[in-house]
Amino acid sequence: MQTAFQTHAAALKTSKILRPVSAETSAAARFGVMPMPNLAWTPEVERETAHLYEKVKAVIPPVEWPFHAPYVKAINDLKKERNAVILAHNYQTPEIYNCVADVVGDSLQLAKLATRTQADIIVQGGVHFMAETSKLLNPGKTVLIPDSKAGCSLAESITGADVRLLRQRYPGVPVVAYVNTSAEVKAEVDICCTSSNALKVVESLGSDRVIFLPDRYLAMNVQAQTKVKIIAWHGACEVHERFTAEELLRYREDDPSIQIIAHPECPPEVVAVSDFAGSTAAMIDFVKTKQPKRVLLVTECSMASNVEAETKGTEFIKPCNLCPHMKRITLPKILESLVYMREEVTIDPALAERARRSVERMIELG
Ligand code: SF4
Repeated sequence: MQTAFQTHAAALKTSKILRPVSAETSAAARFGVMPMPNLAWTPEVERETAHLYEKVKAVIPPVEWPFHAPYVKAINDLKKERNAVILAHNYQTPEIYNCVADVVGDSLQLAKLATRTQADIIVQGGVHFMAETSKLLNPGKTVLIPDSKAGCSLAESITGADVRLLRQRYPGVPVVAYVNTSAEVKAEVDICCTSSNALKVVESLGSDRVIFLPDRYLAMNVQAQTKVKIIAWHGACEVHERFTAEELLRYREDDPSIQIIAHPECPPEVVAVSDFAGSTAAMIDFVKTKQPKRVLLVTECSMASNVEAETKGTEFIKPCNLCPHMKRITLPKILESLVYMREEVTIDPALAERARRSVERMIELG
């Protein structure tokens, strides 16, 4: 039996998504390659990055800053020269999120905010499906991902061919795709959703049955709130499915006043013992508005550090499951991306048109 990864790799071989880019039309040919900047730790670098270190000193020890700072300065200089912006997902490391990103947020916030930028180039601090969504919503811009192998266990669990088979099996049943899917999958579905609007999207379709993909846990968490019968795909986020209700209850036993907030990609029993469940943006909002004394963030590890860097008076407990895909994006790779103009994200225009419609239907829903 094929693993989800093998299925995805086989699908990519036959997919129309990855349009070949010739050397003449590549981003490097269009924009030119820059010389690699000097990356020495000098008094000038220390001085010019001091205000940025102030933002992250709670989460990055002083001994580490001389390694990050030369990259931070070089990236920020190069962004101006290239007229580029960096979009960073909430799961990016603190030095990326706080020191080089122009826009931060969850995947949809990033893509939507990117449509307002005047920049020519978008560098995606996130995984591949996010870069594709940015390209879908910003077809005229050059979108780069610093490591094209930055995947996602959810996006890789399903292909466009799988969606077509689901439609054959359940004729007439509308299909909702979580944004954590490839453009190829988005092109086959009726509408997309995020973790914050999934319930609203499912109920907007006026059907008593809905196919929901690819996250089975998000599907179960939505099913608990609606009478619409959800037919779920079997994908899962490898970061969030590892949390258990037992481990959260042990924290609660140690400190009954602790606030536990979880992402809805977690199993339903984890959400059931949490005080709040919501998207990464909703979790950040919860912490900033409620200002709990102690909070347990049941999500990817870097997000807790990023919120911690921006919040005073709240103690963060971090169970710390790292997303290995998000961690493929580093400062050195972002710099190389801007210097060499790689890896460019391209999508077949006809496929992009269909995929964009699914995303825009969701946005129109408000
Ligand atoms: S945290 Fe989970 S959903 Fe997000 S990119 Fe990593 S594997 Fe995918």
